[in-house]
Amino acid sequence: MTKLRKLAFLLILFIPALPAHSMVTAAHPLATEAGVEILEAGGSAIDAAIAIQAVLTLVEPQSSGIGGGAFLLHYGSKEGRIQAFDGRETAPQAVQETHFLDTTGQPLKFLDAVPGGRSVGVPGVLRMLEMAHAEHGALPWHTLFEPAIRLANNGFTATPRLAEMLRLDLPLDAFEPMAGYFFPNGEPITAGTQIKNPTLAKTLTQIATDGADAFYEGELARAIVETVQRNGGLLTLDDMATYQAIERPAICREVAGSNVCSMPLPSSGGMSVLQILRLFEMASSVTPNPTPMLQAHLMLEASRLAFADRNEYLGDTDFVEVPVNTLLSENYLKQRANLISADKSLGIARPGLNADQARASGSKLINHSTSHFSVIDSSNNAVSMTSSIEMPFGSRLMVGGFLLNNQLTDFRFDPLAANGQPHPNRVQPGKRPLSSMSPVIALNSEGLPELVIGSPGGTRIIGFVAQRVASILIHNQPIEAAIQTGSFVNRNGKTELEADTTAAELAGALEELGHEITVQPLTSGLHGIERLSDGTMRGAADPRREGSVGQIQRQSPQE
Ligand code: GLU
Repeated sequence: MTKLRKLAFLLILFIPALPAHSMVTAAHPLATEAGVEILEAGGSAIDAAIAIQAVLTLVEPQSSGIGGGAFLLHYGSKEGRIQAFDGRETAPQAVQETHFLDTTGQPLKFLDAVPGGRSVGVPGVLRMLEMAHAEHGALPWHTLFEPAIRLANNGFTATPRLAEMLRLDLPLDAFEPMAGYFFPNGEPITAGTQIKNPTLAKTLTQIATDGADAFYEGELARAIVETVQRNGGLLTLDDMATYQAIERPAICREVAGSNVCSMPLPSSGGMSVLQILRLFEMASSVTPNPTPMLQAHLMLEASRLAFADRNEYLGDTDFVEVPVNTLLSENYLKQRANLISADKSLGIARPGLNADQARASGSKLINHSTSHFSVIDSSNNAVSMTSSIEMPFGSRLMVGGFLLNNQLTDFRFDPLAANGQPHPNRVQPGKRPLSSMSPVIALNSEGLPELVIGSPGGTRIIGFVAQRVASILIHNQPIEAAIQTGSFVNRNGKTELEADTTAAELAGALEELGHEITVQPLTSGLHGIERLSDGTMRGAADPRREGSVGQIQRQSPQE
C-alpha cells in the first residue's frame, strides 16, 4: 500500500463527516480496501463494486460470491437516474413444482434441502456485474479482478467470524472440496490462519480475461454443472448459457421529502421496506409526539402489515401476477395504516386485499450469510448492492475455488397456499425465488444521493433496513448511531428485540401494548453511506460484523 493510500484509507468503523470525495463500506476490510484501490485508479462506483465482490468471494466465502446472486441499485449522476439490476438466481428448466417435496408429498425439512445440488440456482452475480459495467464502467473489466487475484495467490488471514461460522457448520462439512479447503486435517480453520486459494485465482483470471462468458460457457460452466448434477441437482449447460441479468425499473416512494428507491420483485425488499416506511409515516402523523417506545411500536405494527401482504401476494412478476401498484398505492396504504393503533398491537395481521387468513411467515433460522456494500464515487455515482449465496457456505458445493448458492430454498417448498391455490412463490422452471434483499438509495430534493444502505439478515433484512432509513431520514439520526442502535423486528409474528441494546429495554412497555416479545441477538450487517447537504459524506460499518469504511479525499472526477 502506498504511503498516500495509507493516509487516505482509514480502517476504522465509523468516520465522522469529512470532506471525502468517494467512500466505500463493506463487510470485510480487504474488500473495502479493494474498492478504494479501484476508485483511486480512476474507477467508477460500478468498477469498485466488481472489485469488492471479487474479494468478498475470497475473504467472506460464507456470505456471498460469484457462485450466488445479487441485486444492485445504481445511481448515475450523468443521467440523474436510478437503475435496478437483477442478478438473482434462476431455477433450472428441469424443475417441477414438487421440487422441494419428499416422496410422500410433504415439504422437505429446510436444512435437509440446503446441502447438495437440489438447492443450487443459476448464479447471477457475474452476468449482472457485466451488464452494469458495460454501461457504467470506467476501467477495463480485467483490471477489476487484480486485487482479488493478488490476495488469492498471496493469501489472506481468516477472520474470527469465518472461523466461528466454520465451527458452527461442522455437521454440514461433508462435501469435498469444501471440506479439504476449510477443514484441513478434519479441523475447521481457526482465526488468524493464512489461507491461499490458487484455484480461485485461476478462476478469476479466466473471468478477468474472457469476461463472464468464461463462467457461463466453457470449462467453468461444465465444472459447475457436473458438480451440481453429481450431487442430485438439475442444472444444465443450457441453464447456464441462457442465464440473463435483467434491468428493472427501481421502485421509489417519497419518505420525509426524500425519494427512497429500492429493488422491485423478485425481491420483496423494496416493496416491503417502502410499505413499512409509508405506513409508519401515516401512523405517526396521527400520533402526536410519539416517544421512542411508541415510534418502535408503530414501526413494528407497520411491519406486521407489510409482512402479511408479502407472505400472501409476492413472487417473481415474470411468472405470477402481483398487484404491485395497488399494494403501494396511497389509498390502499391509508386503509392499512388505519388498522394501526397507538394503544394496542393488532397482533397477527391479515393480508389486505381479501379477508383470507394470512399464512404464517416463512420464518427461517437466524441467517449469518449474505453481504451488503455501498459505494459513492467522486462524481456522485452510487452503488447499493446486496449479494448472497443464501445460507452460510451456500449449498456446500465448491467449484473453481468458490461456493455455489442454495438460493432455490428461498422458494416456498409447498407449491400450494393454505387456500389450496398455487402460491406465487412456488418453484417453476426459470423462475427467481422471492428475496428480501433491500438495497436502498435515497435521493434528496436536488436529486442527489443522500443515503446508500442495505443489510443481510434473511427476511429480517426488511426490518433492519426500514428501521435505519426511518432513523436517518425521518428522525435525522446520524448513520453511525442509527446502525449501532439495537434492532427491533416484526415479521407478522413475535416482536424480536436485539439483546443487550436499548431495543431490549422496550420489552416491558411493548408487552403492555400486546406484543409477544423475544429478546435475542439480531445479526444485521448494515453498511451505508450518508451524503450530507454540503456534500460531505459519512459512512458506517455494522459493528455486529467485521466490515470497515474507506474513503478518498482527493481524486479527479470520473468522466
Ligand atoms: N437469501 C436471502 C434473500 O435473498 C438472503 C439471506 C440472508 O440475508 O442471509 O432474501
